[in-house]
Amino acid sequence: MESLVIVGASLAGLSAARAARRQGFSGRLVIVGDDPQRPYDRPPLSKEFLAGTIEAADLALETETDDLDAEWLLGVRAIGFDALSREVILEDGRSVHADLLVIATGASARSLPPIAGLENVLTLRTLEDARKLRALVERGGRMVVVGAGFIGAEVASTAHKLGLEVTVLEKSPTPLCGPLGAELGSVVGGLHARAGVELICGADIEEFEVEDNAVAAVRLAGGRTLPADVVVVGIGAVPNTGWLEGSGVELGNGVVCDEVGRTSVPGVVAVGDCAAWLDPRTGRHHRVEHWTGAAERPAVAVGTLLGTDPAVLPAVKPAYFWSNQYGTRLQFVGDAGAGDRVVYEHGGPGEESFLAVYYAGEDPVAVLGWNQTKQFCRWRKTLEKLSTAAVQLAAV
Ligand code: FAD
Repeated sequence: MESLVIVGASLAGLSAARAARRQGFSGRLVIVGDDPQRPYDRPPLSKEFLAGTIEAADLALETETDDLDAEWLLGVRAIGFDALSREVILEDGRSVHADLLVIATGASARSLPPIAGLENVLTLRTLEDARKLRALVERGGRMVVVGAGFIGAEVASTAHKLGLEVTVLEKSPTPLCGPLGAELGSVVGGLHARAGVELICGADIEEFEVEDNAVAAVRLAGGRTLPADVVVVGIGAVPNTGWLEGSGVELGNGVVCDEVGRTSVPGVVAVGDCAAWLDPRTGRHHRVEHWTGAAERPAVAVGTLLGTDPAVLPAVKPAYFWSNQYGTRLQFVGDAGAGDRVVYEHGGPGEESFLAVYYAGEDPVAVLGWNQTKQFCRWRKTLEKLSTAAVQLAAV
């Protein structure tokens, strides 16, 4: 009987475990996670949980119908993988035999070393982070958010709604250049101003003024000083792959995978935020740091691992995410970086709802919906079909 070990006990790990059992795996299933919590959902941490409208129990990802018959090793970190003996080495000295291995170790929030660990400075990735942030937000006052990416923007939006005076600092000339491109990044960045929150782009932080082990103010080049009661650092995430160094599993910006999640080591796949899958449409590897990819792609990767008939596996869909900011529902699918121009197919910037399509030549490669769920879903299906066709073409 084979053993399947999943390292990372969050959304991608749980989805992989469910997929393994659904696809008939009847061997030993072990799930290793360094967080002592059972798997929980992260998107509400910057939204409803931070706002105090839901509690930790509402975040549980497992349901009553889950019957995984798995061994859960929680609160223990994997520190290595020996590809020859196929042992996953744990920090407490134990090891677990893995005939098959799923890497699902996600990512960690990037910190700002000069102020990391100070009392009123937080990143937001875990439930523990969210509990601390919620306690600080409940005190009110002035918040400085460093980084206008999705998490920074959502925290700013929630804190503003709760009455805090919020300023958002962004180093780049426009926010979200990476995922959305400069044009639409700047349109989304405009949501802050519309809500009455100041967004400073091109911000150059000269110094953090520290008093009593906390940031008292943020001083910008040019002399402006922003007093702060709480500082949130939202400057991206780094893949949790350090434990795989020296294992033979190829690492780049995440675990390097083919278009179905296979790594450079046979019998080892990677899924979720830590995995850089090949996109056959663009020929590029990239990490998809979004909920839907971590929920859907494990079925494909596990199917490859178990030798499940590809015909019964779901297709790999283009990356999709949503974000809620200041009452606006944003939805995005595809790869903006592959596009060379943007066309507004419905409405336009400045309107309550619009739909923007990114094209590479004549081909749509990404779509942004702004309070535009209906049209967005139609375009999302179109992109999914194009992606499936590209995967089929790559396979012949
Ligand atoms: P993770 O959730 O990061 O889980 C990885 C797990 O592995 C963690 O529990 C970690 O502790 C564990 N681990 C790491 N290293 C080790 C090790 N060496 N040994 C054992 N265990 C280890 N996505 C959207 O699409 N829309 C949203 O609105 C949205 N909002 C978000 C808001 C917040 C605040 C955050 C943090 C994320 C949000 N996301 C959103 C992203 C989404 O939550 C992630 O894409 C998803 O959680 C990825 O799941 P994962 O299982 O791959 O990684």
